[in-house]
Amino acid sequence: MNRNPFTRRRRYFRSGRFSRRRRNDFLSYIILVPILVVLLAIAGWLYLRRSDAQSASSDADGPMQTAGTGESLPEAGVTLSLDETEGDAAQEGSLTSYLQQAELLAAGYDYDAAIELLNASPFAASPEAQAAVAGYEEIRSTLVRTDPRQVTHVFFHTLIMDTSKAFDGDSREKGYNQMMTTKDEFLKILQAMYDRGFVLVRLHDLAYEVTEEDGTVRFKEGDIMLPPGKQAFVMSQDDVCYYEYMEGDGFASRMIVGEDGRPTCEMKMDDGSVSVGAYDLVPLLDQFIDEHPDFSYRGAKAVIAFTGYNGILGYRTAPSYDTDEYRAEHPGFDYAKEREEAARVAQCLKDDGYELASHSWGHRNMGEISMENFITDTDKWEAEVETLTGPCDIILFPFGSDIGDWHPYAADNERFQYLHSKGFRYFCNVDSARYFVQIGDDYLRQGRRNLDGYRMYYDLPESGVANDHLSDLFNVSEVFDRSRPTPVPKMSE
Ligand SMILES: [Zn+2]
Repeated sequence: MNRNPFTRRRRYFRSGRFSRRRRNDFLSYIILVPILVVLLAIAGWLYLRRSDAQSASSDADGPMQTAGTGESLPEAGVTLSLDETEGDAAQEGSLTSYLQQAELLAAGYDYDAAIELLNASPFAASPEAQAAVAGYEEIRSTLVRTDPRQVTHVFFHTLIMDTSKAFDGDSREKGYNQMMTTKDEFLKILQAMYDRGFVLVRLHDLAYEVTEEDGTVRFKEGDIMLPPGKQAFVMSQDDVCYYEYMEGDGFASRMIVGEDGRPTCEMKMDDGSVSVGAYDLVPLLDQFIDEHPDFSYRGAKAVIAFTGYNGILGYRTAPSYDTDEYRAEHPGFDYAKEREEAARVAQCLKDDGYELASHSWGHRNMGEISMENFITDTDKWEAEVETLTGPCDIILFPFGSDIGDWHPYAADNERFQYLHSKGFRYFCNVDSARYFVQIGDDYLRQGRRNLDGYRMYYDLPESGVANDHLSDLFNVSEVFDRSRPTPVPKMSE
């Protein structure tokens, strides 16, 4: 998936190698020079005609401009004659830009792609490219395979942006204090985990479905290759719906596609205005990875999970909002537009490296509700949410529930069978153990660790309990947000 953007460049490089061989051949050179002169004349004429016809626009950097640049001029000319549409790749293709692209691929641990990019480039023979390739090959020889059964998984809910609003003494304060994480805590967790060598991977990197030659389908362990000292982990975020009840409590109001084409958030301010910025996990994680590309394995981001009953991503997409009554209370509300926008943001998340998941439609305990309700809920998620997100094969069970005990899912487990028939292959419960990964013939199951106020408070020495659930990840005394009311209520209180 990562390599698609380079397909066009590879085709260009092939033509580049072709042209170098030709240049070394004296007879061909004699033939080539007049052709190039003619081509350059045509290119120049096209450029002038284009400048006359239109004012400069952003797409004016095609083959015509390339033809006007210095040393790569003959190659660009040949490229132009072979395939005019590939001129922009030639224009981008300075040695420096190749080295930078390779460096970014290597930072994301894709040494194969970095080496391939440079070796296939027109500068493959340059000392700089060769030195870079040698460096990547050396690192590649030291990589260690990650045991997918020893990968931890941490999760969050919507992040609290304004603690004074979340912890204002109202009836929702207790729940926020227990189950949510503040922005400040989240950023400290990212930094601490980064400093300890954690690297974000996709759930799909741990294992994935393959079809054998005889047509049988099975789960295959992934080969996550990391330098010594690095350790893979998975991150997820539940209930990314910006529920109605959260309004005014210090959270983002919805996710949008930002001006740069990447996901960002809106938040309603006290004066009624709407501010756009990094008001939740997704844009904050993106910013962190932009600054620390080695925190993400080949572009991996988090798993983002949705229920359906209030809609997703802050858009009121459930059919219950498609009523005259709701429209009367919310002037300007356009149900079709809500669904359209939600789908656009969901696609934007996927394009940005996020994996999308079900969190059940009605935030139900999927192990305990009746089979009838289980089927109804699963069907509603498929009809109302999966029509926005596209096919999802991950379910993150609410309340840390599960559809079986810790043993592998039995073949006669009808809940597993039903979810499997709907395309689900990845099943996550909540487990405070460091690792719980089960790879079956047709599924992967993983336990997740909540990094919320409840978990963090009872790991603090001052709580008088001082569990140790978190010390492998970060120092909780440094992370815990002191603006929280304490003690954080126990879950049963
Ligand atoms: Zn939930």
